[in-house]
Amino acid sequence: CGIVGYIGNREATEVLIEGLSRLEYRGYDSAGIAVYDNGEVNVRKYKGRLNVLAEHLKQDSLAGSIGIGHTRWATHGEPSDRNAHPHTNEEGNIAVIHNGIIENYMKIKEWLIEEKGIEFKSDTDTEVIAHLIDHYYEGDLMKAVYQAIEKMEGAYAIGVIAKSEPDKVIAVRKDSPLIVGLGEGENFIASDIPALLKYTRKMHLIENDEVVLLTKDGVKIFNELGQEMDREVFNVTWDA
Ligand code: GLU
Repeated sequence: CGIVGYIGNREATEVLIEGLSRLEYRGYDSAGIAVYDNGEVNVRKYKGRLNVLAEHLKQDSLAGSIGIGHTRWATHGEPSDRNAHPHTNEEGNIAVIHNGIIENYMKIKEWLIEEKGIEFKSDTDTEVIAHLIDHYYEGDLMKAVYQAIEKMEGAYAIGVIAKSEPDKVIAVRKDSPLIVGLGEGENFIASDIPALLKYTRKMHLIENDEVVLLTKDGVKIFNELGQEMDREVFNVTWDA
């Protein structure tokens, strides 16, 4: 239900928890984050309030300055730790958060099980996205994301990080809100503006069917054909 992503020099965990807390008013049943650090994508996710996740992170913190975070409003699969986002591929090196519904997930899931022998770890529609990106991945995460979304029907905003390309966060918007926050040597994604107001008032509003490439030093927005789009900076003048 809520999405936040970060790349920069801060501790990603702090930004993700802070951002997600600003989206709590929307309601959710579980929360989780994935943070890249030192050759690994580490995931923590729990059923319950954001506090449950934050308390676990106090004992078992995740260092790193690239990450994605999610608060879930379950549509496919009961609220539980295993169904909470982020979801990963089998090796756990690609992590995905998702708002919305993948309408044809069952067809994709059956194909992944029958053709690839994938063992699913959750009951969500979301998990197919991580396995699909992994299936298409041949050294170019952006290309794999484009190939995956071509197969996905439904409404979604997604955020993706991968161990093999730890210099970026990729996000996609299709019928589910997504914005970009612009910083100095850091950039953000979120499902709504209040999530980012502590850090920046400069935003890009992402349009339907657009794909975003977030690095520390820049943001690129592409349309569904992969053409780079120009986007004005949107200055938020109000307070949440
Ligand atoms: N359909 C996904 C799930 O049930 C995402 C739900 C959401 O938007 O939070 O896990």
